[in-house]
Amino acid sequence: MTLTEKILARAAGKKFVQPGDNVWANVDILMTHDVCGPGTIGVFRREFGANAKVWDREKIVIIPDHYIFTADSKCNRNVDILREFVGAQGIKYFYDIIDDPKGKWVFDAAKGNYKRQYGSHYAGVCHTALAARGHTRPGEVLLGTDSHTCMAGAFGEFATGIGNTDAGFVLGTGKLLLKVPETMRFWFEGKLSPGVMGKDVILHLIGEIGFDGATYRAMQFDGPGAHAMNMDDRMTITNMAIEAGGKNGIFEPDEQTFAYVNERTKANGTKSKYDAIFCDKDQKFVYEKAFDLSKLEPTVACHPNPGQRKLAKELSSVALDRAYIGSCTGGKTSDFVAFARIVNGRKVKLHTFGVPATPDVMADLKETKMGDKTIWQILVDAGVDMTENPGCAACLGGPTDTFGRMNKPQKCISTTNRNFPGRMGHLESQVILASPMTVAASAITGHITDPREFL
Ligand code: SF4
Repeated sequence: MTLTEKILARAAGKKFVQPGDNVWANVDILMTHDVCGPGTIGVFRREFGANAKVWDREKIVIIPDHYIFTADSKCNRNVDILREFVGAQGIKYFYDIIDDPKGKWVFDAAKGNYKRQYGSHYAGVCHTALAARGHTRPGEVLLGTDSHTCMAGAFGEFATGIGNTDAGFVLGTGKLLLKVPETMRFWFEGKLSPGVMGKDVILHLIGEIGFDGATYRAMQFDGPGAHAMNMDDRMTITNMAIEAGGKNGIFEPDEQTFAYVNERTKANGTKSKYDAIFCDKDQKFVYEKAFDLSKLEPTVACHPNPGQRKLAKELSSVALDRAYIGSCTGGKTSDFVAFARIVNGRKVKLHTFGVPATPDVMADLKETKMGDKTIWQILVDAGVDMTENPGCAACLGGPTDTFGRMNKPQKCISTTNRNFPGRMGHLESQVILASPMTVAASAITGHITDPREFL
C-alpha cells in the first residue's frame, strides 16, 4: 500500500484498502476556523441537537485566522460564535483573538492595521499554527474545514479539507466516510539550486499535470530529494496539492519530521505519542514521474489559475502594480528570510505588503538578524508595509478594509497559493503566484523578475 492507503487502512481498522474503497476513518484532529466554524457548528446543532456534546473535546482545534483584522461586524461576530461554542463544549484548543473567554471581539479600526491587536492565545493562520502548536503528527488523520489542510501531509499524515456538513458530522461522531484515493508519485532527485525554493517545485509540478491533474488523488512526494528538503519546503509543497485538485499531499516522515513534531508537541503540551507509517516496497501508483530538482528554475503561475506555469525569466516584460508576502504557503519565517536576502539594502518599487503567518513568525522576524539588522527592519527599510497582525489578510480577499486587499483591478505578484479571479479582492485583479525570492526581486524592479539576478 501507499502511504495514504496505509494511514486510511489503519484509521478504518482494516488490514488492507485499495483505491476506490469507501472506509469509515477515525479522525485524530478536526480543525475549523472563523469562516467555516459557525456553519459547522450550525450543522452539528441541527443534526445532533442543541445540547449535544462534541465527540472529543481534545481532538478539536479551533483557530480564528481569516477575516479577523477588519471592522466588518459580521466577521467579528463569527469569532464570538466560536468562543461561545468552545465555552459551552469545553474544547481544549482554541486560539482566540482576545483573552477574555466571555468577551466580544471588536477590531479597532482607529488603531489601524499595522499595530498589534490580539491577545496572548492568538495563533495566526490555521495550517501554520497547527504545525507550530503541536497538532500535526505522523500517521494520523487530520481533517479541516479548509482546502489547504493538505499542508499537514508534510508531516507524514493524511490531511485533507472537508466541507461544513462533513465537519458537523465529525464533530458529533469523530468519523468520516472517505473514498481511498489513487496515489500519484513524484520522485525527487538532486538539490534545489540557489534562488529556487519549494514554491518553485510545486508550481512546476502543477504546471506539469494541470490544475485538475491530481483530482481526488493523493500526491506522494518521495525520493532522496524529498528527504533532503527542509520542513518548510515540504509544507509549501503539500499545501498546494489542492491546487492540482489533489485529495492530499504527503511526504514520508523521517528524522527531520520527528525532530520538528517532537519539539512542538513538547513545547505546547499536546499529544506527543504517534505511530509513524513508512513506504512499503510494494506500492501501486496511478502516475509516476521523476524530477531532478537541480534543473528547476524560478517559476510562476500566471492568472487565472495555478496551472499557468511560466519561468520567471520569460516574463520580464510583465509590469506589476503590487507585491505581497504572506499566507500559510509563503508567510513562514524562512519565506521572509529568503525575501530579505533579496531586498536587503535595496528599495522596493512596488507597493509591497508583508503579513507574517503567525505571531511566532512575527517574533522571529523581529529577533533574527541578517548582518546588523533584524529581518523585520530589513523589510521595513526596503519599503515593505509590514503588519504586526498575522493572519490570512488579503490571501482570500476579505472585506474591503483587509490589509493588502486589491480593491481595484491591479496585478499583484504574491507568495500565496491560489490565483483564481477575484482571489485577492477585486474581481478583475490578477494574481501571479511565485516564491518569496521571485516576489522580492519583482518588487524591486516593478516587473516579473528572476531572483537569481540579485544573488
Ligand atoms: S493564508 Fe490563504 S490559503 Fe492559507 S488558510 Fe488563509 S486564506 Fe487559506
